[in-house]
Amino acid sequence: MTVVEAALSDSDVPFVSTASNFEKLRAVDPEIYDLTVAEVRRQATIVRLIPSENYTSAAVMQAMATPFCNKYSEGYPGKRYYEGNELVDAVEELCRSRACSLFGADHANVQPHSGSPANMAAYYALMKPGDKVLGMHLPSGGHLTHGWNVNFSGMLFEHAYYGYNEAQGVTGMDPETGMLNYDEIAEIARKFRPNVIFAGGTAYPRVWDFARFKAIAEEVGAYLVADIAHINGLIIGGVHPDPVPFADVVTSTTHKAIRGPRGGFILCKDREMKDNPDERLPARIDKAVFPTLQGGPHNNTIAALAVCFAEAARQEFRDYAHQVVANAKALAQALNNRGWKLVTGGTDNHLILVDVMTSRKIPGKPYARALYEAGLEANFNSIPNDPRKPFSPSGLRIGTPAVTSRGFKEPEMEMIASWMDRVAAACTKSGKDYLFDEKAIASIKGEVTELCTDSRFPVPGIDI
Ligand SMILES: *Cc1c(COP(=O)(O)O)cnc(C)c1O
Repeated sequence: MTVVEAALSDSDVPFVSTASNFEKLRAVDPEIYDLTVAEVRRQATIVRLIPSENYTSAAVMQAMATPFCNKYSEGYPGKRYYEGNELVDAVEELCRSRACSLFGADHANVQPHSGSPANMAAYYALMKPGDKVLGMHLPSGGHLTHGWNVNFSGMLFEHAYYGYNEAQGVTGMDPETGMLNYDEIAEIARKFRPNVIFAGGTAYPRVWDFARFKAIAEEVGAYLVADIAHINGLIIGGVHPDPVPFADVVTSTTHKAIRGPRGGFILCKDREMKDNPDERLPARIDKAVFPTLQGGPHNNTIAALAVCFAEAARQEFRDYAHQVVANAKALAQALNNRGWKLVTGGTDNHLILVDVMTSRKIPGKPYARALYEAGLEANFNSIPNDPRKPFSPSGLRIGTPAVTSRGFKEPEMEMIASWMDRVAAACTKSGKDYLFDEKAIASIKGEVTELCTDSRFPVPGIDI
């Protein structure tokens, strides 16, 4: 039986979604219906620890499944290339103004289709091909779009990195602690003279000092872009420093800690451009998104993003963000107590980077596989100065946004740490491969399913 067949036949727990009328889907396309229901069941019955994922609310999902998806609206509110956009305009204006008030920003563009297109728009607004970007080294915790060579950003722009890799001569991170070293980053910037500096990453478990990045950018005459894809929800919740006072441009996804639909947005200061004082940054950003990079915006996604911003403005969301960090700290502590080695020794935010190889002599990849067999979903990840290759690195990346959305608190973090320990103990090396004790894994999986089907931990948007 294939994995998909197994998922389809596993119907012990019946789920319906409050988010859309699945009955129509069932009648028209039973194959996609079956896969959808199996995915609903999968997401409800496992412990989801991938730090870039979350559960959206039923309200956000309902806004996505609306006839706004039928409408073409190239342009911006009040200036469209199609008739019939008065309601779409109202939606986009609401979404933009909610973004501005939530973050205290001068201007917002909510049309980017996702985080990478949002970053691409920042490049097009601020630079010309051949200009220079300084970003975090991907294997040290950066993102592809911060100048990595297989990405457009590394192909079109000269690039330098901060991070830590001895063999490649990458500096800017303390080799012992794994913390960013701002004096070294300033030194790299002075030598490289970038046009743009990106501050942000995908696997850095500590606070970003945006004020310090601003000082570095100002000294070398660069624009500062803060990419807050991972930490947007923490910033809104007041549990991570705010980049908006410091960065010229802030880019973000909408589907990670902030719990919205899949998409992207850009915030920027209302300032003049360095290369043309007659031009303002908001106009440049808008032009870069449309018409330079995109055609019609995804209006149903923008409607759902507006709902997400309304939810994020409430006190409940602030409480949620605080609990995300409290849970990550509790999980890090529970792992430390069990002798695991964590990059930087712990966390300030929603994620933890575990050096599995040093901790338990298992590479991140087979360990992530064994965890998933036990019902714990995470991803293998490089660690700074990783001696292993990117497709089978030393580390594991875990985070608390999704589990906190379903109400897990400190006691459940203790359970997760204990399961992680037991999964590692169930793995043994055999030649080049890693095998796991299937009975031990199955017994952990039973406990995980029990916790996930406990009515104390409902899944947003999904009813059992
Ligand atoms: C996730 C992420 C992105 C890209 O988002 P996509 O929606 O996957 O394109 C960009 N930057 C950072 C820091 C991210 O974590």
